[in-house]
Amino acid sequence: MTEPIVMYKDVHKSFGDVSVLRGIDLDIKPGEKVAVIGPSGSGKTTIIRMLMTLEEPTSGSIIVDGKNLWQMEKGGQLVPANEKHLREVRGDIGMVFQHFNLFPHMTILENCMTAPVQVKKEDKATAKKHSIEMLEKVGLGDKLDNYPSQLSGGQKQRVAMARALVMRPKIMLFDEVTSALDPELVGEVLEVIRDIAKEGEMAMVLVTHEMDFALDVADRVLFLDNGVIAEQGPPSQVLEHSENERLQSFLHRFR
Ligand code: ADP
Repeated sequence: MTEPIVMYKDVHKSFGDVSVLRGIDLDIKPGEKVAVIGPSGSGKTTIIRMLMTLEEPTSGSIIVDGKNLWQMEKGGQLVPANEKHLREVRGDIGMVFQHFNLFPHMTILENCMTAPVQVKKEDKATAKKHSIEMLEKVGLGDKLDNYPSQLSGGQKQRVAMARALVMRPKIMLFDEVTSALDPELVGEVLEVIRDIAKEGEMAMVLVTHEMDFALDVADRVLFLDNGVIAEQGPPSQVLEHSENERLQSFLHRFR
């Protein structure tokens, strides 16, 4: 059996007195597409931010590609594991946010080239070639010299995807990437994610409110509620045939 690329083991997270995650156990296989759904404030973003090491768990462990991201200090607090591990893990993970987070003073080609050159130490010509290929793949081959302010929201989000993909991550995280878009721009962004998903080799974690999309793209859907994974399984089972009342009432809002 293949080793999971990501393992959460009894992960808890509190912000001050507020307990947000209360025991998350989750294995993600290489190439697996996992959609995470749940009410606002249920901890969906926190789960993926912890994978990016942007947030540390209060207890439990998270192991990415065999590397434990956190270690217990003498005082009982979890602290980041060694820097080398973290650098390697961050190199394996790409993240696309709700609000594009592009560099406004750089062209879209420069936006894509920065990380390969600075983090992966690729030479500029190679980084440029890969960035152009990736921008062509997301349908923006004719916009290389444009600045983010000259693009629509959907185009900006596609740049953000190209910028993450050019690092060739093993895991891609998508945090409500269509939530800030005008409705008519949602389709073009989901289409690009569908295409990437079809290629197969990358694991993906998608926090989304687009239920039809989850049904179509995900191998597994998780319903997060009250800090635990309250339901999980194949998309049609979770989204169409679950008997969990809280899940049903949550899904009802999207019909
Ligand atoms: P979701 O993505 O499901 O909407 P989040 O993971 O963003 O949920 O947030 C879960 C809960 O944790 C919310 O109540 C939110 O207010 C709280 N929270 C998230 N980040 C922080 C933070 N940095 N400091 C304090 N509270 C936070």
